[in-house]
Amino acid sequence: MFSKILVANRGEIALRIIRACHDLGIEAVAVYSEADRGAPWLDVADQSICIGPAVSSESYLKIPRIIAAAEVTGAQAIHPGYGFLSENSKFAEQCRASGIEFIGPPVEAMERLGNKDKSKTVAKAAKVPTVPGSDGLVHSEEEAKKFARAVGYPVLIKASAGGGGRGMRVARDEASLVAGFAQARAEAEAAFKDGSVFLEKYLDRPRHVEVQLLGDQYGHVIHLFERDCSLQRRHQKLVEESPSPRLPDAVRQEMCAAAVRLAQEAGYYNAGTCEFLVDQHNRFYFIEVNARIQVEHPVTELVTGVDLIREQIRIAAGEKLRYQQKDIVQRGHAIEVRINAEDPANDFRPSPGVVKTWRPPGGPGVRLDSHVCAGYRVPSNYDSMVAKLLVHQPTRDEAFAVMRRCLREFRVEGIHTTIPLLQTIFRNEAFIAGTVDTTFIERELMSPKG
Ligand code: ADP
Repeated sequence: MFSKILVANRGEIALRIIRACHDLGIEAVAVYSEADRGAPWLDVADQSICIGPAVSSESYLKIPRIIAAAEVTGAQAIHPGYGFLSENSKFAEQCRASGIEFIGPPVEAMERLGNKDKSKTVAKAAKVPTVPGSDGLVHSEEEAKKFARAVGYPVLIKASAGGGGRGMRVARDEASLVAGFAQARAEAEAAFKDGSVFLEKYLDRPRHVEVQLLGDQYGHVIHLFERDCSLQRRHQKLVEESPSPRLPDAVRQEMCAAAVRLAQEAGYYNAGTCEFLVDQHNRFYFIEVNARIQVEHPVTELVTGVDLIREQIRIAAGEKLRYQQKDIVQRGHAIEVRINAEDPANDFRPSPGVVKTWRPPGGPGVRLDSHVCAGYRVPSNYDSMVAKLLVHQPTRDEAFAVMRRCLREFRVEGIHTTIPLLQTIFRNEAFIAGTVDTTFIERELMSPKG
C-alpha cells in the first residue's frame, strides 16, 4: 500500500480524498492555486504545495507542475478526483512514466472510452444497446443533413470530447442543424481543443440512469447498481438518487450486466460509471463511460456501504477486489442534491464571495460533503458547487421528508445558493412520484410562468 498520495484537485472532492487517505493510514499532499491559498481543506492535508496562479490551465491542469509536486513530496500515487485532469490519458501516461501510480483506469481503457463516439464502438462490440447515431464523426454539414434525414428529427449534435453538457446542440429541423453544427464545433474546440462532433437521435423525454462499476487489475469487475440522475438543468445534474424510482427490476439487472460487459470489453479497472438513457418504454441505451470517480458517487456509498474512494486506492495499489457481486446489495434509499453558489432568481448567475453564515443540517442518515465554512471566500475561478447534501433512509418517502427538512434547516448567508430551487423541486408532485425526465426542469419549472 502507498504511504503518501497527492490529491490533484480542489474543493469538496479534495477533502473527500484526503479523508479517505487518512482512513487508510496514508499521508495526503494537497496542491493549490493562488486563488485557493489558505483554503480550509489544505489544513486537513499533511502537506500542501502551491502549483500556480488561479487560472486552471496554469495550475490544476498543469501536468508538469503536478508531477513535480508529487516528486518533491515523495508521493507514490496521484488521485485526480473528477474534472480537471481526471480523464486525461496523457496525464495518466506521464504519471506512470514518472513512476507514480495514477489512481484510475489503465491508459489503454481511457483511450478506448475517452471519446463518446469511440466508446460507442466498444459498447456495440460488447452487445450493449446504443442510441442510434452517426457511427463515427461527422465532418461536414452535408453529412449531418444526410444522417438527420435518415433517422428523422430531432437529432442531437454532440462533441466527441464533450463533458458537462458542453458542445451539445439539439436540432429540430435543417436550419437549426446547420446553426447547431457550427456552434457545437466552436464550443467544443474552445472547451476541449477538439472540435470533432457526431450525431445521435434525440430521445424524447428520456431518463438518465447510470451504473457504478469497480474492477481490479486481475479482470474482476462488479457493479454497484444504479443512480438515477434524470433531474437536470441544461444537461447538468442537480439531484441524484438510488435506487432509480419506477425502474423494473429486470431492466435494472440487464442494465447492470450490460455495464459490466462493457467494462470487460474495454479492459477497464478501478472505478467508473456507465451512463444510459432510458426511454418511455424502459428500453435503455448506452451514452458514455465516465472513466473516473463521479460527483454523485456518495449516493452509491450510502446504499451499498462501500467506500468507493478507499476501493480506488486499494485497486491502484494492486490489491484484489474485496467484494464479490453477491456481496453488493442496495439498502434503503439515498438522495443527493448539489448546492451551487448561483442565484436561481437571476438566471443562475454565479454568486462568488465570502460566506458569512454556514449552518448545515444534520441528524440520522444525513451526510454533507463540503469544503465550505463560515468566513470562506468562494472564488469565481472554478466550479460553483459548494456542497453535496445527502440523505439515506429506509424508504424513498422518508428520504424525501428528511431532505425537505434538511433544506429548510440549511442556513447560508453572504452568497446566493440553489437551495430555494431545490426546495421547490422537493415539493413537486411529478418528482415526488418519480416520473421526471431529463427535460423536466426546463419544461415545468423554468417556463415563463415559473
Ligand atoms: P456530458 O458528457 O456533456 O454530460 P452526456 O452524453 O453524458 O454529456 O449527456 C448529458 C445529458 O444530455 C444526458 O443525461 C441527457 O439528459 C442528455 N442527452 C444526451 N444524449 C441524448 C440523446 N441522444 N437524446 C436525448 N438526450 C440526450
